[in-house]
Amino acid sequence: MAQERMLMEKERALVVEFGMRMVQSGLTTGTGGNLSVFRRESGLLAVSPSGIAYDRLSPGDVVVLTLDGEVVDGTRTPTSELSFHQALYRVRSEVGAVVHTHSPYATTMACLGWEIPPVHYLVGFSGKKVPLAPYATFGTERLAAGVAGAIGDYNALLLANHGLVTVGVDLPSAFAAAEEIEFVARIYYQARTVGTPQILSDAEMARVIEKFRTYGQKKA
Ligand code: 13P
Ligand code: ZN
Repeated sequence: MAQERMLMEKERALVVEFGMRMVQSGLTTGTGGNLSVFRRESGLLAVSPSGIAYDRLSPGDVVVLTLDGEVVDGTRTPTSELSFHQALYRVRSEVGAVVHTHSPYATTMACLGWEIPPVHYLVGFSGKKVPLAPYATFGTERLAAGVAGAIGDYNALLLANHGLVTVGVDLPSAFAAAEEIEFVARIYYQARTVGTPQILSDAEMARVIEKFRTYGQKKA
């Protein structure tokens, strides 16, 4: 008898793999943060389960749902931040993955209530800056509304007194944005600790963002 295949098998494996990478690269600790992948063709979302340590996750723990939140596969309770993942897929039609971390330097900025200005060209992973969403209790519709209202065209967003959210066309790009923005937050913190960082101009950030479109190896 043919073995029944798991729904969204590839996407669930990706959620497990990148959850591990979140911990290994110091972007989160314990069960903090969450991640998801959305397949627009099928309308299905694969999201990390709530409150399970990333090093204990297996693909079967990842929950598959519709964008309206109807669970179609999986027995775990989905992430408590499901609402902001859904909201981001709704407001940004090109987004295919969402990563949320409590990475220390980005979270430091978020606890100060600061945005991250273009202190280093890698802020271009977000856009011309990293904006800040107002504080709301974790896992609430109010937080989701704040996230949806503040993301604009940016790929990264600080959550006041909480952490960082990034989006991308796929999980590797949303994860790369989380890593690079954490790096920039650290540089901004360090630079402000010893002096006054030089901020890049709007025109320069426009050039950087344009160059990012063709950065790296040409697609085959
Ligand atoms: P979950 O374990 O429910 O995903 O919650 C972690 C978190 O970061 C809440 O903001
Ligand atoms: Zn969180």
